[in-house]
Amino acid sequence: MSFFEVPGWSVPTKPALDSNSRKRKRPQPDDADKLQGAEVNFEKLMKKLHTDDSKTSDSPRTKSNKKNKRARGGDKADHGKSVAKQQTGHQEKESQERPHAAVSPPPQKNKSSKKGKAPASSPTSTPPTPSKKKNAPQKSNGGLTALQSNMKSGLDGARFRWINEVLYKSDSESAHKMMREDKNVFDEYHKGFRHQVESWPSNPVSHYIATLASYPPKSVIADLGCGDAALAQALIPQGFTVLSFDLVGDGVFVLEADIFGRLPLPGSEVAGDNSEVNKTEGHGHVCDVVVCALSLMGTNWPNCIREAWRVLRPDGELKIAEVSSRFTDVERFKSFVSSFGFRLKTHDDSNSHFTLFDFKKIARKPKPDSEWEKLLQQGQILKPCEYKRR
Ligand code: SAH
Repeated sequence: MSFFEVPGWSVPTKPALDSNSRKRKRPQPDDADKLQGAEVNFEKLMKKLHTDDSKTSDSPRTKSNKKNKRARGGDKADHGKSVAKQQTGHQEKESQERPHAAVSPPPQKNKSSKKGKAPASSPTSTPPTPSKKKNAPQKSNGGLTALQSNMKSGLDGARFRWINEVLYKSDSESAHKMMREDKNVFDEYHKGFRHQVESWPSNPVSHYIATLASYPPKSVIADLGCGDAALAQALIPQGFTVLSFDLVGDGVFVLEADIFGRLPLPGSEVAGDNSEVNKTEGHGHVCDVVVCALSLMGTNWPNCIREAWRVLRPDGELKIAEVSSRFTDVERFKSFVSSFGFRLKTHDDSNSHFTLFDFKKIARKPKPDSEWEKLLQQGQILKPCEYKRR
């Protein structure tokens, strides 16, 4: 098993390479050629057969809606399955591969473009898209032969991998722009993400659902980088207020926001002139808990920690789950987050894939801009989580 397990993929065991490093391993030319060749062949086949590519003609979210007659209903169903699986918790097999990092090439459609060009340098260029043809003759396996199906799976995986790499290696402004320009990118990413979740031995979100269910029912929870809003879907019916944010909204649970920018939530860092309130804990906040589950993706993620402090009530909790292989120095990460005005309560690394942290908001002295600038530039404390094609 690998973190981002997609048919035809594997996750290497070597550590992530710094995205800024000039020594970052470049994509294997033969892999890129194969992938490109596969894409061309795939398109030829699709053309020849006039295949109805039902799996790509609708966005996953649309498909999900149709299937479950509610926004992201399919996600919920998937999530239910994964919750069941996750009850086995930390008992994954030792033989399973752990999430790790490596650089892989974005598939190139245009032969004239440079091979292996990292998506971070062109975050808003178009990711590879499988061809879409209608009126296909009916075949088994969604109208595709086994070969076509394998090829399509490889292309879907390549697309997911490409988007993932952009998300980890760009700042959030570029990622947000990419999502805005083509909403399918978000759907494609989450289609792949859900696929991975199904194969994980445990899922941080399920852990948070179980944990938060025992909190006072009036608790206000902000889920930053919520994905399919699994927390909201599980906890709102139980009476909790869950405010879910992601790069693309869904018109139901999820509000569009760049969580590394300014969160559309109240709360100040200082109390201003109001002498009645504690000037070291800010003022006007409404959140009891902030959750960042696998969402500290962009290079400017440290601003999310600053925002979490701003929107949290005094003593509020910040819960962070991250892929374990992203940490070069976990102690440094803990003290880094603490320096924003948090105290570490728990650090759970019992799971081989994910590390969970619970922080509590504490009072802090106002920081000068120069100090903020320094802090906010330390996104490299977390390595990107990448994967490569087998
Ligand atoms: N928390 C969810 C989803 C994890 S995937 C879960 O655990 O199931 C990571 C999510 O973070 C993706 O949905 C991605 O779109 C979101 N994300 C990454 N950067 C973001 C940003 N700058 N602003 C908002 N959401 C972001």
